[in-house]
Amino acid sequence: MSFLEYAPAPESKAILNLRDSYGLFIDGEFVDGSGKSFTTISPADESHIAEIAGADDADIDRAVAAARRAYDKVWSKMSGRDRGKYLFRIARLVQERARELAVAESLDNGKPIKESRDVDVPLVASWFFYYAGWADKLDHAGLGANPRALGVAGQIIPWNFPLLMLAWKIAPALAAGNTVVLKPAETTPLTALIFAEILQQADLPAGVVNIVTGAGSTGAMLVRHPDVDKVAFTGSTGVGRDIARAVAGTGKKVTLELGGKAANIVFDDAPIDQAVEGIVNGIFFNQGHVCCAGSRLLVQESIHDEVIDRLKSRLSTLRLGDPLDKNTDIGAINSAAQLARIRELSDIGESEGAERWTADCAIPDKGFWFAPTIFTGVEASHRIARDEVFGPVLSVLTFRTPAEAIAKANNTPYGLSAGIWTDKGSRILAVADQLRAGVVWANTFNRFDPASPFGGYKESGYGREGGRHGLTAYLKGASA
Ligand code: NAP
Ligand code: MG
Repeated sequence: MSFLEYAPAPESKAILNLRDSYGLFIDGEFVDGSGKSFTTISPADESHIAEIAGADDADIDRAVAAARRAYDKVWSKMSGRDRGKYLFRIARLVQERARELAVAESLDNGKPIKESRDVDVPLVASWFFYYAGWADKLDHAGLGANPRALGVAGQIIPWNFPLLMLAWKIAPALAAGNTVVLKPAETTPLTALIFAEILQQADLPAGVVNIVTGAGSTGAMLVRHPDVDKVAFTGSTGVGRDIARAVAGTGKKVTLELGGKAANIVFDDAPIDQAVEGIVNGIFFNQGHVCCAGSRLLVQESIHDEVIDRLKSRLSTLRLGDPLDKNTDIGAINSAAQLARIRELSDIGESEGAERWTADCAIPDKGFWFAPTIFTGVEASHRIARDEVFGPVLSVLTFRTPAEAIAKANNTPYGLSAGIWTDKGSRILAVADQLRAGVVWANTFNRFDPASPFGGYKESGYGREGGRHGLTAYLKGASA
């Protein structure tokens, strides 16, 4: 043990009050599902957490019918001011139960507790607070005269930010006066089900929010249900395409938040230490399971070696291990399937001729793990420069001029986010203007705020979440 070794500092699980099994949350109550139940596990040690009900067609019918009844009889008749009160109440309860939610999220997802505690859960509360404030101001938001809710929203979310994606979906939908049926990802249903308990605590009228757990097929049924007015999806581009096809011609409104392959561009006048922190945050935050991750580092040729040296030495200090340990920087990969995909793409990167470097860290015996990895000498044609790895893997490319940086950054079918590191404000504005990305960060990365719209260009999807723009996706005839 070196003298810099950290003693274990695990967050206690005693705060959790988990049930052995969870039903579907329909019409304000937990009910049995008629589909096949499944277990959710902790990816850090593959231990069983709870048994989760599976929703089949009949359950989706029940959930959509409950949402429709709640919409017709209660929610669409309630004033925005009163809807806002429920949202404020939910936000406060999330804050009250913040520690419990953070522990549950890290347990079920594998992300480090310092991220779930300091990023995910505070953002969840801020999303509900933010949209609570909009609920009584829709007439004054420049969204047209007398904006109206769409009705029942079917929402499908991925496993990388389970509770945060739930907040991004549910908060604007309810603020705008819609009711909801939400399907969490199969590997991370836990915090959505604790959230259902919070809705009971908040006395939210029955049926306003329903949570149906299950596999991809459950999501497919929800998308196709004829009484769903709006589909909101976050996930892979492949499933996004399937959803776009399924709703084409039905009159359902759709928003799709899909994958990304963001360029993080470092110019030679950038503050290098700060940029290195930004690169680390850009691709190793949340094990790289981030749609807007800075997975393609574009570094100006003259500073390439210096940046890579400092990056490697920084990565050598990251601690990988128990997600519940407060000192952990890199947690577990969410599932065996995702780990297999990361391994496959990394092996392809090596066979295509890029140079692979992996941080030297001990990998626990059980669970799903992947050490922080960098590929240098990557070419634009390599799979690791084009495909979303969705893991802690960085591909490094170089450029000589700003024009080349912009051309390389835009050379992707995606367009979700990008980063620029430079000392010059004028360069930030000039480059950002030419990047085909929904979000561009300057001298920072992976910053989120409920007031700021988020969404993609091209194969990264369409529609915006967050901010005033996020409301338009849930209102009739509104455009930002
Ligand atoms: P995924 O397979 O598309 O799954 C996302 C959600 O859709 C899950 O709840 C999934 O259920 C469900 N689903 C699967 N097949 C479906 C179908 N045919 N119809 C309806 N729903 C279906 O994505 P993933 O691999 O789990 O998540 C990672 C992807 O999400 C990455 O590509 C990432 O870039 C993207 N992402 C995008 C954003 C954004 O805001 N743009 C944010 C986060 C993640 P199961 O879990 O049961 O399969
Ligand atoms: Mg799990």
